[in-house]
Amino acid sequence: MNKEIYLDHAAATPLDPKALKAMEPYFTKNFYNPGATYLAARGVRQKLGEARATIAKTLGTKPAEIIFTAGATEANNLATQGVMNAFPGKELLVSAIEHESVLAPARLFKTKQIDVSPKGIVDLADIKKKITGDTVLVSVMLVNNEIGSIQPLREIAAMIKEELKERQKNGNDLPLYLHSDAAQAGNYFDLKTHRLGVDLLSINGGKIYGPKQSGALFIRAGVKLKPLILGGGQEFGLRSGTENLAGAVGLASALGLAQKTKETESSRVSTLKNLFADEIKKYIPSAILNTSSNYQAPHILSVAFPGVDNERLMMQLDEQGIICGLGSACSATNDEPSHVLAAIGLSKNQARSTLRFSLGKSTNRPQIQKVVKVLKDLLSE
Ligand code: PLP
Repeated sequence: MNKEIYLDHAAATPLDPKALKAMEPYFTKNFYNPGATYLAARGVRQKLGEARATIAKTLGTKPAEIIFTAGATEANNLATQGVMNAFPGKELLVSAIEHESVLAPARLFKTKQIDVSPKGIVDLADIKKKITGDTVLVSVMLVNNEIGSIQPLREIAAMIKEELKERQKNGNDLPLYLHSDAAQAGNYFDLKTHRLGVDLLSINGGKIYGPKQSGALFIRAGVKLKPLILGGGQEFGLRSGTENLAGAVGLASALGLAQKTKETESSRVSTLKNLFADEIKKYIPSAILNTSSNYQAPHILSVAFPGVDNERLMMQLDEQGIICGLGSACSATNDEPSHVLAAIGLSKNQARSTLRFSLGKSTNRPQIQKVVKVLKDLLSE
């Protein structure tokens, strides 16, 4: 039996059968437009409300603070562009290791980047230094998607509170919001927004065993932002378009399941990742673990194999039924390796020899042992 070993859960997860079952009626039998006024549509409108309420409960928010989006890219765009468009000329602060769906919209505005340590953790002193009386939004992800580093959101939230106190003293009434992209966090971390201290939070279904192109943005009541998609005024006027009810139901179901099992899965997966790291160190001593710290998500291991071309190694693994991600992919338009690996101080060569392994529900001990053996054999050829 030669079953595929899938180690790219940070890119995509399979749909949980329970989430699929919950979604199914809304593709076929209950297809009505939630915005329609006839009786038949009332049920689907109610279901949309239920999905919103379930997500709100999981995040510890009010239902009216949850806006459904088509994935985290859209949620990140709505958060960043939405706030910055509401405060023309003001400043945005983003970490240097954000996903491109934060960095690209940030380039449209007056933006400063926050430095990170070699472990990929934002430098709190740098945030303090870069916040000015004109900063209106700070965007720092909860878990980085390439190296798995966890960001100190609570400390950032506390710093923002202090800054707001100062502003009040100085008669500056500009708000300062904290946004976080939690796309990589849903399976393993508590997402209660008051505990994280965030004003805006992006989540998506495609990484938590829910449907792709499902997602949501939490927007704390009172946060001012402008919609990006104009039209029929759905989602409290913040995201027009006929609602993706099956997607909303799938997201609510997947998020509920993920949050219920987060402690057990976190401990199971981190044990496997530690085993993976230990075996790599033991059998492939030339390999370099790009991230190893206590502030690391359980599921991501980024490893450099010096002198090895990562695309070639990835394809060799693929041929043997092992699927992983490139730790550093060149974008379609330039030949520069990942901004994340550069931000933590890796050379171009080290970045180009990096693979990202991301573990998930299907991962087990024999798989990890097999992958290390295959890697060892390929690298000694
Ligand atoms: N943010 C992070 C940290 C991600 O890892 C991803 C996907 O890889 C996204 C945002 C984009 O999410 P989506 O594919 O749902 O738009």
